[in-house]
Amino acid sequence: MQKRRFGAAQADVSVIGQGTWYIEQADRLVAIAALRRGVELGLNHIDTAEMYGAGAAETIVGEAIRDVRDDVFLVSKVLPTNASKAGTRRACEASLKRLKTDRLDCYLLHWRGQHPLAETFAAFEELKREGKILSWGVSNFDEEDLAEALTIAGKGRIACNQVLYHLGERAIEHAVIPWCEQHDVAVVAYSPFGHAGFPARNSKGGYVLADVAKAKGLSLHQVALAFLTRKASVFAIPKAARLSHVEENAKASAVTLSDADIARLEEAFPLGVKPRGLPMI
Ligand code: NAP
Repeated sequence: MQKRRFGAAQADVSVIGQGTWYIEQADRLVAIAALRRGVELGLNHIDTAEMYGAGAAETIVGEAIRDVRDDVFLVSKVLPTNASKAGTRRACEASLKRLKTDRLDCYLLHWRGQHPLAETFAAFEELKREGKILSWGVSNFDEEDLAEALTIAGKGRIACNQVLYHLGERAIEHAVIPWCEQHDVAVVAYSPFGHAGFPARNSKGGYVLADVAKAKGLSLHQVALAFLTRKASVFAIPKAARLSHVEENAKASAVTLSDADIARLEEAFPLGVKPRGLPMI
C-alpha cells in the first residue's frame, strides 16, 4: 500500500483510505469486516465524524479497530455548531469514548460555522498538548479560509484540508490544491466516487473511463482513484461497506496512469471555470 507524508501530522498515511459516512446503514458485521479488511490491506486512514449517524459510525469504527488501533490513522471531526473552545473539547472526548480509544491521529473542523476559528484552533492545540489528538486540520475550506486559518494558527499546524473531489467536480484544482501544496497541507478527497453519482458507463466521460480501465485491466473505480491521487499532495477516502469494494479500492494505490491517460480523463471530465464558492456536500 502506497503511503505519503500527511502534512503537519508528520505521519505516513495510505493514499487510499476508508470513509464511513452512512456506514451504520449497512449490515453491522459486514461493515466491520470491510473496515478490518481495509486495515489488513494497509488502508490505514479511517475517516469518521461525530455527525455520521449521530455517533453510530464512530461506534462501528471503534468496534472494527479495537485490537488494531495502532495500525490506524484515525480521523474524526467536530461539527461547527459544537466548535466553541469548550464545545470542541466535549465533542472530542465524546468521539474518543465512542471510538474506544485515547487519541485521534487527526481532528478536523467539519466546515466553518459561527464559532471563531481562533477558539476552535485553541481547543485543538490544547487537546494536542494533552495527547488526545496528535494533529488537527480543517474541512471544506477554500483558499481564503485557508489563508485566514494559517494567519491564526501559524505555520506547521494545519495537517490537512478535506474537500469534495471527484471526476465530475474538480474545482479544488483551481486554487485549493496549489495553496495546500505551497503550505504543506495534505488534501483529502472526500466523496471520490461522487457520493451516489459515479459516471455512468454510457455517458461521454464514462466511455473514456471504461476505455482506460479496459486497457489496463482495472475497474472504473480504480481508474478514478488513481486519477484523483495522481498528485503527491492528494489522498482519497472512498467509503466501502462491502468487502469486494474495499479490496478493489486497496489495489488502486498501486496504479499509475500514463500522461496520455490523464490527458484523456482531464478532457473527458473538464475542470470547468472556477466557481465562486467551494462546492461541498
Ligand atoms: P463515495 O466514497 O464517493 O462513494 C461511496 C459509494 O461508493 C458507496 O455506495 C460504496 O458502496 C461505493 N463504492 C465504494 N467502492 C466501490 C467500488 N470499488 N466499486 C463500486 N462502488 C464502490 O461517497 P462518500 O461516502 O460521500 O465519501 C467518502 C467519505 O468521505 C465519506 O464516507 C466520509 O468519510 C467523507 N466525507 C466527508 C465530507 C466532509 O464534509 N468532510 C463530506 C462527504 C464525505 P458500498 O458502501 O456498498 O461498498
